[in-house]
Order: sequence, then structure tokens, then C-alpha cells
Amino acid sequence: MADIKRFRRYKPESRGGQMHRLTEENAERQTWRACGVYWVIATLDGVQVVAYVGRSKSNISDRLIKAMDRHGDYTHFRFRRTANELTAFRAECVEFHRYGGFGGLDNAKHPPRPGGHRGHGVMCCVVGCPLNKRYR
Ligand SMILES: [Zn+2]
Repeated sequence: MADIKRFRRYKPESRGGQMHRLTEENAERQTWRACGVYWVIATLDGVQVVAYVGRSKSNISDRLIKAMDRHGDYTHFRFRRTANELTAFRAECVEFHRYGGFGGLDNAKHPPRPGGHRGHGVMCCVVGCPLNKRYR
């Protein structure tokens, strides 16, 4: 049986940019070929909620397009640039937990550590996360 998700409305403290409609044309815009964190927003019974949190080190277009293919409920997105992949990872961790983690998002996995940082003490920065102390 699928878990019942408790999706949350977008919170201003996420500091994401302007909300855009999730269309192929928008997703492919040059703007999104950048390092940052993004929120995919679903419209459920007329209410906009954050359904997925992700990041990319260079380009979110492909992920946005894949998200469109998989979920008809996904209607909008927001994006915030970060300085580098590590800050994108940290931002993704904060946002993943802010919206309830697995219980509040469609994300199937906890944000993975950036490639090249294995074994270098990079872990989830959110206190209380099981991965905050030890990342498996
Ligand atoms: Zn975590």
C-alpha cells in the first residue's frame, strides 16, 4: 500500500525564486542550466504544495522534464542558485527535511552526497536526521 503523503505548501523561508509553470518550454530555458536547488510544486484539489525537492550541479532542465513525464500533478517549480555542488547538497538537505522528508515529499531517497565527497565527512546538515551523524 502506498504511504499517504502529507504535502505542505511552499514556505517563503525556502528563499526559492519566482514560481514558474512546469512546461517543456520553461523547463528547457537557459536559466536552469545552473547549480542550485529546486522545488517541484503539485496542484492537488486546487492547492499548490511542494511535492519534490532536488538539486543539480549544472542543469535542472532534464530533471524537470522527467518530472513532467512521471507526474501529471506537477504543475510548477521554483529554483534557487547556489555557489557550488556542496552548497546545493546542503540546501537540498534543509529543504528535504523542511517539507517532511519521505512523509511529505515524493522523493524516494534522501539527498545523496555530491560525487567526489565520499569519505570526506560530508553528511546531512540537519540535526535529528539519522544521516546527520553517520552517512551510509
Ligand atoms: Zn537528512
